[in-house]
Amino acid sequence: MIPYGRQDIDDSDIEAVVETLRGDRLTQGPKIPQFENLVADFCGAKHAIAVANATAALHISCLALRIGTGDWLWTSPITFVASSNCGLYCGAQVDFVDIDPDTYNISIEALEAKLEVAEKNGKLPKVLVAVHLCGQSCDMRAIHALSQKYGFRIVEDASHAIGGEYRGKPIGNCEFSDITVFSFHPVKIITTGEGGLAVTNNPELATRLDRFRSHGITRDETLMTNEPDGPWYYQQLDLGYNYRLTDLQAALGISQLKRIEPFLAARRSLADYYNEKLSELPLRQPRQIPDSLSAWHLYVVRIQCENINKTHRQVFEKLRQAGIGVNLHYIPVHLQPYYAAMGFKQGDFPEAEKYYGEAISIPMFAAIMDDEKRTVVRSLEQILI
Ligand SMILES: *Cc1c(COP(=O)(O)O)cnc(C)c1O
Repeated sequence: MIPYGRQDIDDSDIEAVVETLRGDRLTQGPKIPQFENLVADFCGAKHAIAVANATAALHISCLALRIGTGDWLWTSPITFVASSNCGLYCGAQVDFVDIDPDTYNISIEALEAKLEVAEKNGKLPKVLVAVHLCGQSCDMRAIHALSQKYGFRIVEDASHAIGGEYRGKPIGNCEFSDITVFSFHPVKIITTGEGGLAVTNNPELATRLDRFRSHGITRDETLMTNEPDGPWYYQQLDLGYNYRLTDLQAALGISQLKRIEPFLAARRSLADYYNEKLSELPLRQPRQIPDSLSAWHLYVVRIQCENINKTHRQVFEKLRQAGIGVNLHYIPVHLQPYYAAMGFKQGDFPEAEKYYGEAISIPMFAAIMDDEKRTVVRSLEQILI
């Protein structure tokens, strides 16, 4: 089976981990700040906080922004459940904004309309999680302008998007947001096994993120409520978690980040190949907006079932039977039973639901072989024509 995504680990990655494994510190050592500084530099942000996974990064981002009971978090329904669960972890309520039919990111028109209504009802969101689906940035300038007008905070869920650009600058520079979150799960652009990271330009948010990552504890005397009892002293100031990344993982992250440019080039070249080879098939190819340079985490095609005598599901199953490990990103979050139990239902977000009835993620990863690419194209041709 050709997977839809997979990691690329070489000898340099393995050596980096082994070297750390032979060293003194397996966790809370020097590799963590090294990795954080490298990611911060890479995306042009001031502060970086590495954590156990992107879900944890989203959770502590919400905590750092002080979202809680009585507050609302909004996001796109076409995302992984973690983008909205983070609000629920903090006791907030969640609502969704339908997707743009071209980019499948949050629709700016729908957002604007929903904000107008929410203002009248006194239910404006405190936090908006903007998900850069497939690696293509949301229209962050427009979202930022709306956040100024309506007073909400912005977290970019860039789990798909490290290495992508928006208006010529790296995603993660937080020019239009409070915090940006990355994931280093093995299917993502670079990996640490499990892993995630939050970047911000705001020093207070960075301090809070750092504290929530590690039990809510500080060793910074200037933040303590009294003089330290002695050199052993620390204080717990918040209810935090153990969301730390290990040095083994950070060592892998450092090594992977060194290789990110060839990874991105390979993904872009595969996207170019699919753009060319699939252009005559009864499917919609991913539309790119001029302001964005995608990191190409995913290549999603939308099957035009009205033009073929097969259903979306049949196409999906035939691709799997042909050895193509296709996937579907994502089942609309509001239709998950856990969310449906809150009152969400079919029909709430029509563009997201229509997308779900057509979308298929085809293999997209840096280490794909030439014969694998050809197999993907040939199988799609055979199944769709
Ligand atoms: C992968 C992913 C996450 C969660 O990442 P983990 O590191 O697995 O916790 C969150 N949001 C989106 C959009 C993702 O794709």
